[in-house]
Amino acid sequence: MALIRSWVESANAPDSPFPLNNLPCGVMSVGETPARCGVAIGESIVDVSALERAGLIKLAHAPLFDAPSWNRLMAAGETVWAALRARLTDLLRAGAQERDAVAPHLVDMRSARLHLPFVVAEYTDFYAGRNHAYNVGVMFRGPENALPPNWIHIPIGYNGRASSVVASGTDIRRPWGQLKGPDDAAPRFAPSQRFDIELELGAVVGLPSRRGCPVTVEEADAMIFGYVLLNDWSARDIQAWEYQPLGPFQAKATATTIGPWIVTKAALEPFRVSGPPRDAPLLPYLRETRPLLYDIALEVALQPEGARETVLARTNYREMYYAAAQQLCHHTTSGCPMNTGDLIGSGTISGEDKHSRGSLLELSWGGREPIALADGGVRTFIADNDTLILRGAAHGDGYTIGFGECAGKVLPALKDPFARAGTEDRV
Ligand code: CA
Repeated sequence: MALIRSWVESANAPDSPFPLNNLPCGVMSVGETPARCGVAIGESIVDVSALERAGLIKLAHAPLFDAPSWNRLMAAGETVWAALRARLTDLLRAGAQERDAVAPHLVDMRSARLHLPFVVAEYTDFYAGRNHAYNVGVMFRGPENALPPNWIHIPIGYNGRASSVVASGTDIRRPWGQLKGPDDAAPRFAPSQRFDIELELGAVVGLPSRRGCPVTVEEADAMIFGYVLLNDWSARDIQAWEYQPLGPFQAKATATTIGPWIVTKAALEPFRVSGPPRDAPLLPYLRETRPLLYDIALEVALQPEGARETVLARTNYREMYYAAAQQLCHHTTSGCPMNTGDLIGSGTISGEDKHSRGSLLELSWGGREPIALADGGVRTFIADNDTLILRGAAHGDGYTIGFGECAGKVLPALKDPFARAGTEDRV
């Protein structure tokens, strides 16, 4: 696969995250105009809702883009997804006949505000990065019991909250919670002192499944519409006290930030890679039928207020032990139905070496090894007014499939969290 050239010149630069090969799906607004569906191309966004109204895109009898979310298109299935991709490629390709008709519907990306790209139906988060699970296990339980015996057989996950999934750029308020250190006699209620990120990739479910009908790994892969960057904000001190025996609850409920662009499965197709060697054979229903992971370079940066950023870690989605299709398949084994707009978090993605760890918990080894920043500061966990930025890209032959940025700034905890509740609106 090589670069597909576009008449939008900025899309042809080798380092452009949004060449014609990508066509990621977002929701944008400019000034006071209503939010609407758009596709990134170079330094522009093409307004697909306007293209549909103008008759330049016609994929179904009823409009697919008359709402500020991609859910309707996502529910339409793979044939329609492919038809949209083919049509946009025709309209934006170098030498396209419709250039003059399409050009008025391009928006300068710098002038656009980006919103949540889809309505999140439900959110499930997994724990499928082996290095992360091992590192956290060592810190929480010691090296003997680091990896629970079920881990190499089951994609471990929990049901999270869709209500706290927010768009990139949304400020995150440091949460209060029950904290109790190992040496404390009793818990106290206080702002989290160990607020953290988790570098993840989220799979976006397009096609639903029926209640009582488990899907195979192959069927699960076909249900996935695309992928977004995902930061699963985590309060480690709340987590350490609350997690037994039922796992994460308030520690993970403050917010989950997702990136503005859904990179479609079709755009990632050239980057498929196989999963790692298995410690024990997976049960047959979970086995790979073909490569299910992707070679996607990921990084996380921390930017203190008014200072330059430091890249804290670089890793890759291919580090996962279980792919999204395996997680989704496992999710349905009970008969649980999946819906259009379900968001499936991969789990924190950490590599083997120290600079490839996808959380501050691991990077600072539980707070014992402070991380040096480019501006001279140090961190163990997030400080007030730090902005955390996730980035991702798959690098092809002369082109890049970028995910944009997934960013959030951590605001100081409220002095009294009950004095004014509900100040954080969903974007
Ligand atoms: Ca997580």
